[in-house]
Amino acid sequence: MKYQADENGYYGNFGGAFIPEMLYPNTEELRLNYLNIMEDPSFEKEFHALLKDYVGRPTPLYFAERLSKKYNTRIYLKREDLCHTGAHKVNNTIGQILMAKRLGKDRIIAETGAGQHGVATATVCALMGIECIVYMGEIDIARQAPNVARMKMLGAEVRPALSGSRTLKDATNEAIRDWINNPVNTHYIIGSVVGPHPYPDMVARFQSVVSKEIKSQLLEKEGRENPDYVVACVGGGSNAAGAYYHYLDEEEVGIIAVEAAGKGVHSGESAATSALGKIGIIHGSKTLLMQTEDGQITEPYSISAGLDYPGVGPMHAHLYESGRGEFISITDDEAMQAGRMVAELEGIIPAIETSHAFAIFNHRNFKPEDLVVINLSGRGDKDLQTYIDYFKL
Ligand SMILES: *Cc1c(COP(=O)(O)O)cnc(C)c1O
Repeated sequence: MKYQADENGYYGNFGGAFIPEMLYPNTEELRLNYLNIMEDPSFEKEFHALLKDYVGRPTPLYFAERLSKKYNTRIYLKREDLCHTGAHKVNNTIGQILMAKRLGKDRIIAETGAGQHGVATATVCALMGIECIVYMGEIDIARQAPNVARMKMLGAEVRPALSGSRTLKDATNEAIRDWINNPVNTHYIIGSVVGPHPYPDMVARFQSVVSKEIKSQLLEKEGRENPDYVVACVGGGSNAAGAYYHYLDEEEVGIIAVEAAGKGVHSGESAATSALGKIGIIHGSKTLLMQTEDGQITEPYSISAGLDYPGVGPMHAHLYESGRGEFISITDDEAMQAGRMVAELEGIIPAIETSHAFAIFNHRNFKPEDLVVINLSGRGDKDLQTYIDYFKL
């Protein structure tokens, strides 16, 4: 298990829990309990029942015939866009809300940048009838009005973060402050494979249902569990972690991670963390992050709100450093064109995050007999205005 977290939450040199002393009891309670709870058969039963009947799992593994023909290889799409709420994020929030209940918590906090994780959190809180507070930078609240409305519709309270640059990292600071002040009744739902141990491992395990399903679906369709490559876009890294999880230690399966190069890796406006990142601490974890010479986190940029993150989860930092994963950066323009191509060839409008993954076919050749699985992390409805503006539709 070379690529899974060790018991201290390290993936090679990355991970751990670098948190203020006052947060220690909160993460410690989670660390001591999360594996026992997840491995409890009654928990598994409840989790999988909700994934099936509420989320709509298993999501299809679809052979993309026209796309395969165009690139002369065999391409399968894992349809996370068909999950309730339109993306993979709900797999994790369902898991964490059940975890919170087992830990006796009756109040949920979260932070969100683009609002997608806020919506996924508000959704499961409504489902369970649990109070939900979502911290969001004041600037992001203005930029992401439809998602703010969705959260309110679902009964969540959206609290603006008014300090600093009034974006994601300020919302994160507010959420951490809240958790320190409410250690007994509150669970903090983190939305990707980031944060202090045990979050990256816990979130990866909840998302690992994706690769578990790919294995059995490929076996049924192709007579083998393993593709030649699994491809996913990486913001914090949760959809990718889910798609890779059961393949991490199967070295014949190539792992490809696609990051957002924004306006170009060296343009000063990008989110290509592996290419530009240096080791540092963000969100309580030691990982690769984009920073200035003196260690200030640099403001990331991508046309897709979900990839616009200055760090990457510790699993991915390790996959990069060890060479187990192949990392490719894709610009805004390449992603937008790839999204339109998939819409026209397959009748599927991908989220702009996912469109980045589809652009790899212009960067990298695959053999005609290769089996390539693309994790289609989400649907593009939320991005329609961006597509409209870009293509002048
Ligand atoms: C949030 C999001 C992402 C990026 O987050 P990860 O944790 O890297 O998966 C990717 N795709 C979609 C559709 C998203 O909503």
